[in-house]
Amino acid sequence: MASSGPDASDVGNGVADILQALKVIQENQARLAAEVESVSHRFDSLAPSTHSPTLNEKPSPEQNLPAESSLPQPALAVVSKESSSARVQAEKAGFTSRIILTTYPKQIGINPIPLNWGAPGPKRGPVVVSRSSSTIRKRNAIGAHGGSYSIYFALALASKQLNVNHRPDFTNTEPAANIGPFPQWSDKKKIVAMDPWGHLAPWLYADTMQKDDVDIRPTIAITKAHMKLPELEESVRSGRLVPDGKVCLNEAGELAVTKFAVEPVWYLPGVAERFGIDEGVLRRSLFEHTGGSYPELITRGDIKVFLPPIGGLTVYCFGDPAKMSDENARLSLRIHDECNGSDVFGSDICTCRPYLIFGIEEAVKEAQNGGSGVVIYFRKEGRALGEVTKYLVYNARKRGEDRASDYFKRTENIAGVKDMRFQALMPDILHWLGIKKIDRMLSMSNMKHDAIVGQGIPIHERVELPEELIPADSRVEIDAKITAGYFTTGHRMTEDELQAVKGRMWEDIDH
Ligand SMILES: [Zn+2]
Repeated sequence: MASSGPDASDVGNGVADILQALKVIQENQARLAAEVESVSHRFDSLAPSTHSPTLNEKPSPEQNLPAESSLPQPALAVVSKESSSARVQAEKAGFTSRIILTTYPKQIGINPIPLNWGAPGPKRGPVVVSRSSSTIRKRNAIGAHGGSYSIYFALALASKQLNVNHRPDFTNTEPAANIGPFPQWSDKKKIVAMDPWGHLAPWLYADTMQKDDVDIRPTIAITKAHMKLPELEESVRSGRLVPDGKVCLNEAGELAVTKFAVEPVWYLPGVAERFGIDEGVLRRSLFEHTGGSYPELITRGDIKVFLPPIGGLTVYCFGDPAKMSDENARLSLRIHDECNGSDVFGSDICTCRPYLIFGIEEAVKEAQNGGSGVVIYFRKEGRALGEVTKYLVYNARKRGEDRASDYFKRTENIAGVKDMRFQALMPDILHWLGIKKIDRMLSMSNMKHDAIVGQGIPIHERVELPEELIPADSRVEIDAKITAGYFTTGHRMTEDELQAVKGRMWEDIDH
């Protein structure tokens, strides 16, 4: 007969197992504490005391944080204890005396400034992400300003070229053009990857900055400029573009442009929803696959906003920016993803620069006709796989047969996917600009098209890159893309026909 409960020896074994597990946890905690202590001491011995404290400096808030014993998970929270002289030295160097590995929602001293994403108007609250001593306890976002440049910020602080207490002087930095506000700004389904109030943050929340000594910075900046491209000078010379003195300024093809730079700000529940995944899975993947860089993704479920260390985007607007959201004015749009080799250095293996220039020229013409022309440039180099992967793929193509039929397979072999740009978040900028329809879409990408239309913004016409602008060596790319579903009014090749499209081989490249 089977026993209905554990016998005495089972219970004994169970207790022994638990005791053993506890012992391992204790040992791990002790090791972790020792490691952090040694890092702190190393830091103190390296930190020169070049920075004299000023009258404005306040004692570090970490001194007010609870002692280890009162924290829910002490080993992870605040670790190193130091002699008072070490602490003084660290503070003189501009850093606090304790390393905070993470925080917890109910922790004493943790009091985030309310941020209610999607609430109407600026009352929603500011995005607060700074870890400066006066702000760290009030943070309501994870990550850091500057996207990928946040690492240079850390380097500047570590090398003492930047004072940790420096605050930006925002005098005269206000946006050079007005935009919005639009109802889309308060729709937490429509804008999840940028802060709709990011261009006005220091001015909207000046009170909070001053009264509570909180560090708040813009994540969007808007300026005006002239730009000059050799291809557009040629457009004017050949008569395709006629200078009007306002958009195209002169015979040299010089253009007047309004530019919007946008850093990524992710509302995590909204990002997860766009990808149809669980927010917890998203948080865990971001935590684990950034080398464990952002533990608050795991410990601070109450914080919903993350400033990821990735590139942002730039909007180049030709003509009056107010026309972008005017449903009675026509709009031409190119969404362009970064390809430095072609865009800047003129590599002819792809169609990127030709399409970018074509997009700019068509945008300028639309603006000259009383509409609006917009080019949006995303920092997603090499389909967001980066240049190293891209060059490995080039090598694999050129050492193989470089057939259009194998084009995507080469990338998949190396990267595991053919594309990581994930256009799902791309349409946010269109909502932010107040765009409700696109008359001419200067792109053949079905992924961009589907993402935009899926966000409820209709596209009335799709415009291909004209044949005469396609470099010979980039036929492999463009034909492979067309067969894979890119838009064309021309011929979509069969797999057999693709086999015959070949690029230049090494022998042709070497000389
Ligand atoms: Zn390219």
